[in-house]
Amino acid sequence: MNINQSILFDIDGTLLYARGVGRDAFGIAFEDAYRVAYPDVEKLCFIGATDSNLVRNMAKECNVETTIAKEEHFFLRLTQLIDAALSKVKPHIYPGVPQLLTELNQAGLPLGIITGNIRPTAWSKLRHSEIDSYFSFGAYGDEHHDRSEITNIAISRAPAATPATMMIGDTPLDIKAAKSNNLVAVAVATGWISAEELADAGADLVLTDFSDTHSTIKKIITLLD
Ligand SMILES: [Mg+2]
Repeated sequence: MNINQSILFDIDGTLLYARGVGRDAFGIAFEDAYRVAYPDVEKLCFIGATDSNLVRNMAKECNVETTIAKEEHFFLRLTQLIDAALSKVKPHIYPGVPQLLTELNQAGLPLGIITGNIRPTAWSKLRHSEIDSYFSFGAYGDEHHDRSEITNIAISRAPAATPATMMIGDTPLDIKAAKSNNLVAVAVATGWISAEELADAGADLVLTDFSDTHSTIKKIITLLD
């Protein structure tokens, strides 16, 4: 097989579930960096969000000014807290994910990350799930607050010989980001959005999960042709 293309993967809801450690970490890191308690971390919506956007909206809701320095402080604390939490409780990896990544790598497809997570927490989640070695490039939530723009950055980092042509995610925002960058949009319903909603959002292919590696690879390769 000689495909000469790269595939971009979202992290949360697509490859793994970090068991909610991010929510608590967001509350603690926000209070440390902004010196004010965020009233209700339970109502934060992480689905398809980017970390930069989330923290800016939290500051706005608390009527505190956000600055680059405060955001950097927040991201540093967030990184420490999430990494510490994931060393104790490993993320839940969805069925078939390691097998799928292994086979795509073996087929010669470079894999990249497109995520709303900031760079260190993205790699922390991948490393604690032992799937970090499958990925060779990526773009992250501390590089832009808009997922479509992060996707554009990820595309620019794909190896020149194997341009990124497909993105796999779990939310309508992933599909929108893929489409606005002329990528094939594959959606997987392992996250919080149903297969019906993902199909309605315009995905080129919707999978319930990756448990059937053979069938998943076959469908992906067909779309890459
Ligand atoms: Mg996701």
